[in-house]
Amino acid sequence: MVDTPENDIAVVGAGIVGVACALQLARQGRRVLLLDHQAPGHGASYGNAGHLATEQVFPIADLSILKRLPRMLLDPMGPLRLDWKYLPKAMPWFARLLLNLRPAPFQRSVAGIRALNEGSLGAWQRLLGSIGRSELFKEDGSLLVFERPESRVALQALRARMQQQDVQVDLWSADHLREAAPQLNPSLLGGLFFPRTGHFIDPYRVVCALFEVAKANGVRFVQARVTGGQLHSDGVNLASDRGTFKARQVLLSCGAHSAPLTVALTGKRVPLDTERGYHLMLPQEQQRLPFAVTSLERKFIMTPMAEGLRLAGTVEFAGLDAPPSMQRAWQLHRLSKGLFQRDLSTEGATPWMGFRPSLPDSLPVIDRVCDGRVLLAFGHQHLGLTQAAVTAEWVGRLAAQSAGPETAAYRLDRF
Ligand SMILES: Cc1cc2nc3c(=O)[nH]c(=O)nc-3n(C[C@H](O)[C@H](O)[C@H](O)COP(=O)(O)OP(=O)(O)OC[C@H]3O[C@@H](n4cnc5c(N)ncnc54)[C@H](O)[C@@H]3O)c2cc1C
Repeated sequence: MVDTPENDIAVVGAGIVGVACALQLARQGRRVLLLDHQAPGHGASYGNAGHLATEQVFPIADLSILKRLPRMLLDPMGPLRLDWKYLPKAMPWFARLLLNLRPAPFQRSVAGIRALNEGSLGAWQRLLGSIGRSELFKEDGSLLVFERPESRVALQALRARMQQQDVQVDLWSADHLREAAPQLNPSLLGGLFFPRTGHFIDPYRVVCALFEVAKANGVRFVQARVTGGQLHSDGVNLASDRGTFKARQVLLSCGAHSAPLTVALTGKRVPLDTERGYHLMLPQEQQRLPFAVTSLERKFIMTPMAEGLRLAGTVEFAGLDAPPSMQRAWQLHRLSKGLFQRDLSTEGATPWMGFRPSLPDSLPVIDRVCDGRVLLAFGHQHLGLTQAAVTAEWVGRLAAQSAGPETAAYRLDRF
């Protein structure tokens, strides 16, 4: 089958990034075809922690991790797991990650993450406001707590580093913590509060809400897995399990699955890998926390959502094909023990695993290549929800060929 309607642009991948971009492009008057082999929002965007994490301006690794790494890797239930069978495949990615720990590339990454994060809150407010769904986001801040006296120095160092990067951060004493979040264990020693952050009440609902408005703006969705593609003088032909689709331009936004189509269309290999992450959803615990809380020592986040409390985190290097190790999701509940006055209920709890799309310099690819026939928006690592709305605005400008210099750090040809 050959898809006949005139498509100005085919957007491949209907996660939060693809759907936000599809809506942006439709609002700019483009005839948009959105393709995904799943219903929209069933990739990483389904089950993330829902945290608008504008405070997270540092790359996924820094030099301090090298000292802690051996111990972390030997603990199979720790916050970081490497499937040793996957190591040979992951080696080139790790090698690049190490090179990016050098001061100059590290600072480049910080600047690139900051530029996206600083635009994130405003872009989300504009986007949700424009679809009349501002209630999906709560600008209520988030909290990083600590419980061991020896962590105080690390917490203060982190605060100083964040302040150097203009992150707004308040130091909370144990007393302040007890007053603001009385449900937490009173033995916690204090924390850092980030006022310019917040949480989405359900990241999947956010994708669905944008998708509905996108359809109302003319975006056509076809459920199809894109398997390859070819550029020609007036555009692109995309091969799929549902036949061939033609469009003048294509936007690749397949999250962690973007590398094969990037090489098929542009000839360029991107070192994209996945940091698998897990969540455990606790439907009985909707009211337990007033805002998202992360534990410095236990390294996971708890976000109050419409359907319950979501415990999320952990990084697992095991690739895209290995089955999930759901005990890592249940481990999040064990980690929560002792953080509250009363343990969290697991009645009706559901585990989940998703693929964070991660490049070794912690920056996404947001670019326009091949004479404008191919646009790219993928690789947002731990921050894809945070950065989706601002990415959509940038992609809109790239599509309209009015890109500002802010996109230079995210180019495909940096690899
Ligand atoms: C446990 C966990 C917690 C997280 N917490 C946060 C958080 O609190 N805040 C935050 O900002 N980010 C968070 N993230 C990261 C965030 O979820 C991702 O960065 C973001 O969802 C990526 O969005 P995406 O649209 O690029 O990819 P995805 O949501 O994965 O969407 C990609 C889509 O492409 C489709 N696709 C793939 N290949 C093809 C193909 N060949 N043909 C057609 N369709 C295809 C997939 O089906 C999928 O629907 C978290 C991630 C995890 C795993």
